[in-house]
Formats: sequence, C-alpha cells, structure tokens
Amino acid sequence: MAKIMILMSDTGGGHRASAQALQAGFIERYGDRFHVEIVELWRDYTPWPINQLPKSYSPIVNRGVWFWKFLWDASQQPWVVNPVLNLVGLFVRDTIRRAFVDHQPDLVVSVHPLMQQLALTSLRDWRKDVPFVTVITDLGTINPLWLFRKADRCFVPTDEAYQQGLCAGLRADQLVMSGLPIRPIFAHSTLAETELRWKLGLAEDRLTALVVSGGEGMGPVATIAHNLAERLAMDGRHAQLVVICGRNEQLRQDLSKRDWPIPVHVHGFVENMAEWMVASDCIVTKAGPGTIAEALITGLPILLSGFIPGQEEGNVPYVLDHGVGAYSPNPTEIAAIVSRWFGPEQDKLSDMAQKAKALGHPQATFAIVEEIARLIT
Ligand code: UDP
Repeated sequence: MAKIMILMSDTGGGHRASAQALQAGFIERYGDRFHVEIVELWRDYTPWPINQLPKSYSPIVNRGVWFWKFLWDASQQPWVVNPVLNLVGLFVRDTIRRAFVDHQPDLVVSVHPLMQQLALTSLRDWRKDVPFVTVITDLGTINPLWLFRKADRCFVPTDEAYQQGLCAGLRADQLVMSGLPIRPIFAHSTLAETELRWKLGLAEDRLTALVVSGGEGMGPVATIAHNLAERLAMDGRHAQLVVICGRNEQLRQDLSKRDWPIPVHVHGFVENMAEWMVASDCIVTKAGPGTIAEALITGLPILLSGFIPGQEEGNVPYVLDHGVGAYSPNPTEIAAIVSRWFGPEQDKLSDMAQKAKALGHPQATFAIVEEIARLIT
C-alpha cells in the first residue's frame, strides 16, 4: 500500500479542511490502495518556540489584526522572507527530516504555504526520489511562499492563481488548474432544493438567506442577522434566514433566545453544510476560501461581509470580478442588498447563481487525487 503524507498546520481552519478533503477523496476513489496520513508538521516536528506558531495564529488574527497584516505584508518580500526561512531552517531541518523518517512516505503533499521550501529541503535530505506536490488552499491572494519552483506539481484553485504561478517562474507542466479541494459530498449533492427544505425543517416557499462566518463563527454575525431579519420583514419579503454559528456556542445561544420578525433557524456547527447551501438562495459570509468554493459549486450568490487581511483579501475582487456576488462590511447595507436580491433584483440573483455554478469546481478533489495517484503508480 503506497503511503501519502499530507503536511498541514492548524493556522486557520482551511488547511486541515483541505487535507481532510483530499484524504476523503483518496478513500472514495481508491479504497485502501493508498494509506493517507495528515501530519501537523509545524506543531509536532519543530522545536519550541517555533512549534507554538499554530497556537498563536487565532489570537493574532482575532485581537491583533494589524500585526497579522504586518506579518503578511512582510512575507511577500523576498528580502525579508528568505533570511527568515534560512534562519528557521537551521533549527527545523533535522526535526522535519525526522517526520519523513517516522512516516516513510512514498509521496508528500503540502497544503500549507510555510511547508514548501523548509519541508522539501528536509525531504531531499532524506530521499531524492519521493515526489513532492503543493495544493494551494487560498483562492484569490496567493502568497509567494506557496509558489515553490522545486515542487513536482502545484495544484492551483483559480485561473488567477495559475497566472501568478507562471509569473513566479513555475512551468506550465508543473501547474495544474484543479480548483480548491473540498469535501467529496459537494460533488455528489443530488437532492433538490425543495426536498432539502422539507428535510431541514425550512418553509419550502420562502426565499432563504444563509448566514455563516467560517468554522469559528467569527465577526459581527449577530448584528448582520438582526439587520437582515428586520429589513426583510420591513420590506415584506416572503423570506427566512438560516444562521450557522459554527463553533461559536455563545453566538448560537444568544441568537436562539431572540424573537425574530421572520422565521430564523439558528444552528451551531453543522456537518451537512452542502445541504444547507443547496436549500438556500444566497449566502452572507466572510471571505473564507472553503465557503466561497462550496457556495460556487452549489450555485449560491455570495454576499461577502468581511475578510481576514492578507490571505482572504483577494477573495473579494475574485467574487466581484466574476459577477457572482457583492461585498459590504456594513450590516445595514448587507440587509438592503439581500432585500433587493429577494425583491426587485431577483433576475440578478438568478444570473449570479448561474455564473457561480459555472465558476465552481465540483470535481476538484478527484482531479487532484487522480493526478497524485498517477505520480506514484
Ligand atoms: N463549516 C462547516 N460547518 C459549520 C461551519 C463551517 O462544515 O458549521 C465549514 C464550511 O463549510 C467550510 C469551512 O468550515 O468548509 C470554513 O472554511 P473557510 O475557508 O470558509 O473559513 P475558515 O473557517 O477556514 O476561516
């Protein structure tokens, strides 16, 4: 059984989600032909204090966003990043090499921008003949750290990322435009909208807005939901809201207690996001790459309510330029936009839904695992 090692780190939910999507894709396509292991390389195979990086990501992004933006901008500059990587490399080269000795992979996949140069250097210290591939898990803003020319393949999520790859000096035969890897269920969703509304306890005849904000339910979700419900009621829209709070239990409890002027369905972390998306008519979300990719596949117009500076910033023009949604960080304006979409602008809503479906990549995960399988068989 060939062994595939996926390198990730829990800095934000997306890298683990992509790693798990690929693992699920391998199992669905090939059964037990491959043994796929997901390894938190940074936490488990770098020395203290470097191994504390994953833990510090959330506090920095949530409470010191200016500092995160500073780090992100610095990471775009080769004159800053190269000396830092060289210095860190002195401390982690041997410990990361131990990861490969421990796991004995036949092929290595990296789904994290910090695990290109450092990981590949250590991999080559161990073996010269083990293929190394990069799967980029950001959509619009591709940090140069992702685009490492020594990778055997680099899977990119968008045409824009493909062009950035070429500009960074990767060859056309290294780059594969596959789409972002997402859970295989999104490729198989066969239930119709009305069936799902019935199954999920939603009114079948009401226009439905889905409000989410990543796996952690971060940002002003409560204010957005409140403004949206009030505005849809005031404008007399025959509508309902679904608010998915993710792991933000406080938010779920808070919203569950409220009286709402229209039907509002509040949930914590859901495992069946594909169903909620298919059952909805539009989504209001922060600019997370996973949620955007899933919304496109399910043909949902996307109203972006915010973004994490740096890695999510480029997702805003991506959505706007492709005509699949809008952006506003202002809850009052968000409410007005959705109300228009559900009122005089329903044709625009249908047009965006069609464009979203055309832009999505439901087969991305399978395209990636099939190409990887070809590299080791
Ligand atoms: N998600 C989920 N259930 C929830 C909330 C979110 O499965 O209750 C998933 C969502 O479908 C997406 C991911 O969590 O796949 C969020 O990824 P994204 O890149 O949008 O944001 P992040 O949480 O990584 O900041």
